[in-house]
Amino acid sequence: MLVLERKMNQGMSERLVQASESRGWQESAHQELQRAFDTLSEQKIELEEAYRWSTVAHSEIQRAFDELKVANGAKTRFLATVFHELKTPLTSISAFADILNKNRAGNLKARELKQLDVIRRNVRRLNLLINDLLDLTRIDAGTLVLEPGELPVSELLNDMSAMFEPILNRRNQFLEVEDGTSGQWVKGDRDRLEQMVTNLVTNASKFSPEGAAAGLGANASGDQLELTVTDSRVGIPEESVGQIFDAFYRVDNEETRGVTGTGAGLYITSSIVRFHGGNLTVDSTYGQGMTFRAVVPGVMDGPSVEHLQREATRLETIDEHKSRLEEEPREAA
Ligand code: ADP
Repeated sequence: MLVLERKMNQGMSERLVQASESRGWQESAHQELQRAFDTLSEQKIELEEAYRWSTVAHSEIQRAFDELKVANGAKTRFLATVFHELKTPLTSISAFADILNKNRAGNLKARELKQLDVIRRNVRRLNLLINDLLDLTRIDAGTLVLEPGELPVSELLNDMSAMFEPILNRRNQFLEVEDGTSGQWVKGDRDRLEQMVTNLVTNASKFSPEGAAAGLGANASGDQLELTVTDSRVGIPEESVGQIFDAFYRVDNEETRGVTGTGAGLYITSSIVRFHGGNLTVDSTYGQGMTFRAVVPGVMDGPSVEHLQREATRLETIDEHKSRLEEEPREAA
């Protein structure tokens, strides 16, 4: 009995010890939890504060961005007006220089003829420069709009080759045309596609020495047209390849130092390709030449019905104007 009683007492005191241990543990757990909770509350306050600041900063940045956008738009409009205004007097200088040039025989002395040629050359350069700057402002303002159209690829190549022949001949250079298309057409803005090829072939010519050959090629694959322009003499150093499509970037080395230009051509050219939904890439081997590859979508087996209808309407309008012109003098008489 005594043994039993002792055992019971022992059991009870063990449970009491366990209970008090458990209470101690619960209290320390509770304190731990309280501490964690306090830390979390502090962090929550800090986070709320940071969030408030970031919201303020965000709206500040947004306001600054909006102001910059407005200022940039005003700058672009101002530049577009200035470039446009520059063109007006330039057009009249150019027209008068052309008139003088037509009357050159007999009326002008040899020295004056030379001066006239300098005026005409510089007017041409200024015109090209202003057109490039106008294009740059339009691209940056997002206002360069393509004139949608369709054209036979071979016609584009032939026109370009005919236009370049006399220019390249002056430096004994020549353009090899390889037309891999088979009567296919492409959707696009004819003037802008011609501008793209002109920029690339002009570069191939002006950065190459006398007597060099340039290549202009076209190939169609499915919906994609690939236009390539190659030259095989100069090229650019590898570290410059990633930058030549940036506006105003020019490689500064012995080969390019004497060549005129603004560095705007390839930026405009790559933008034209991009606006057509395509991509312009380049391969260059320094000392050996470059290949520019423009890939644009929109290849067609022939003209669309809409294009033919538009052409028929255009020709009819021209005929109408012609016959009106023929009628009018008779009515007047
Ligand atoms: P620009 O011809 O007015 O200098 P571009 O934007 O057309 O400007 O070309 C940028 C630069 O890329 C050129 O200044 C030249 O250094 C380099 N480049 C472009 N095309 C060629 C080429 N075919 N051969 C060698 N360098 C070239």
